[in-house]
Amino acid sequence: MADFVLAIDQGTTSTRAILFTHDGKIHATGQKEHEQIFPKAGWVEHDPVEIWDNTREVIGNCLGKANAANSDIAAIGITNQRETAVVWDKNTGEPVYNAIVWQDTRTDKIAEELGGDEGADKYKAICGLPLATYFAGPKVKWILDNVEGAREKADAGDLLFGTTDTWTLWNLTGGVDGGVHVTDVTNASRTMLMDLKSLSWDEGIAADMGIPMSMLPEIKSCSEVYGESTKLGVPIAGILGDQQAATFGQACFEKGMSKNTYGTGNFMLLNTGTEVVPSENGLLTTLCYKIGDQDAIYALEGSIAVSGSLIQWLRDNIGLIDDAPQIEDLAKDVDDNGGAYFVPAFSGLFAPHWKSDARGAIVGLTRFVNKGHIARAALEATAYQTREVAEAMNADSGVDVKELRVDGGMIANETLMQFQADILGVDVVRPEIAETTALGAAYAAGIAVGFWDGEQDVIDNWNEGHRWTPSMDETERERLFRQWNKAVTKTFDWVDEDVEKAGA
Ligand code: ADP
Repeated sequence: MADFVLAIDQGTTSTRAILFTHDGKIHATGQKEHEQIFPKAGWVEHDPVEIWDNTREVIGNCLGKANAANSDIAAIGITNQRETAVVWDKNTGEPVYNAIVWQDTRTDKIAEELGGDEGADKYKAICGLPLATYFAGPKVKWILDNVEGAREKADAGDLLFGTTDTWTLWNLTGGVDGGVHVTDVTNASRTMLMDLKSLSWDEGIAADMGIPMSMLPEIKSCSEVYGESTKLGVPIAGILGDQQAATFGQACFEKGMSKNTYGTGNFMLLNTGTEVVPSENGLLTTLCYKIGDQDAIYALEGSIAVSGSLIQWLRDNIGLIDDAPQIEDLAKDVDDNGGAYFVPAFSGLFAPHWKSDARGAIVGLTRFVNKGHIARAALEATAYQTREVAEAMNADSGVDVKELRVDGGMIANETLMQFQADILGVDVVRPEIAETTALGAAYAAGIAVGFWDGEQDVIDNWNEGHRWTPSMDETERERLFRQWNKAVTKTFDWVDEDVEKAGA
């Protein structure tokens, strides 16, 4: 019997291959970064050919390190950066343009025009999302509108669209020689083109965006055999967008369970069961997962643009620290934030405020404040933003978050995690295996081929690594959060004509 499941994690900065054992442990890994291409302010691209080259290389490295044969691998699962759009020619396999990455803001005018008089929520009842630059559909429209010859080719049925899961799957299964053109429900739910309830493409929205139906991949569940890797002869049997994969890897299978990933930004997902919960409080309604022909499970998501990247900014732009872990040493030099609050609205505020005209601010400064307080205020910002999202989730769903499962790079920071528990007033729990994204994709694939029996195996394999319990009294918790809310209001309405003239 095969010993492993292989996960491919096609992320924003790198692509990784990880072999997982039956008890959910990491056996071997391969990883390679790809170039971040910034052609203009606000534009972010990746080269899809480089990503595919790296994918093959990291699989080779991973299997080589493990000395594993193809027959040792039961299945392959794919997880990926979401919303990043690739358009390619199905006859040549060549992309017609670079991948437009989720952070790219070039589609702001397209989004505004599509909304027209009805505004940003025009399609929300169908797809669960507001019109925003974040999502894939408008990025495809941009490519068809701006790349010479693309629209004619698309109308002739020669072009295919996919997020990077689809691009990876199509290439792994043979590319121009019979490549499988499929995506899963979680990735499809980030395009703005999928009807959340029927789990099929909405022809009206696709027509509004000028996207021919022939370009769109077939939508399948997150856990079923889509095809076989032509080189390895192994079934590819799981696809989940990265944040949903982390939710799956964290075994958040019950309604009301949630996880928060602390990376460049923060992404918190709350499992809402089989119910599609529309958000009145600035959250996204999205697919959580769907296993084979079982009912789809939905989620509410709070996306925070800046969390770990604030620590990078203090390192790279300000020189306050030399590396990310030093922020904790600095913060530990002081007892509290000294009255300082740091609102990192560098590109406006995402969930739950969605204020594009906000800009960053440090408020509450006095002569008393030193660099330790600033370090602390920067860490606290992540915890307060998480509480804002948790409160929005509570308001939308009526479900109180009872404990928070966490993952991502920032959870190495014990001071932050303790403060998070304090400011939320609930336990914060880190799993033993923090690679939850790749693990989630592996589980989805392994379940489809019977390597694992189902969710219960995932639950059994999930082990608590560490738990932080609130120790702050409630009066203090609420006092601090009131001050944070006051600080947030100071960042609103900053962008006006004068700021725009200065190009900020
Ligand atoms: P992503 O998957 O978005 O690339 P990761 O999950 O790898 O991100 O997390 C990296 C982020 O975590 C970086 O923004 C970094 O600044 C931050 N980070 C890493 N270690 C620490 C730490 N000890 N304290 C605070 N932030 C940290």
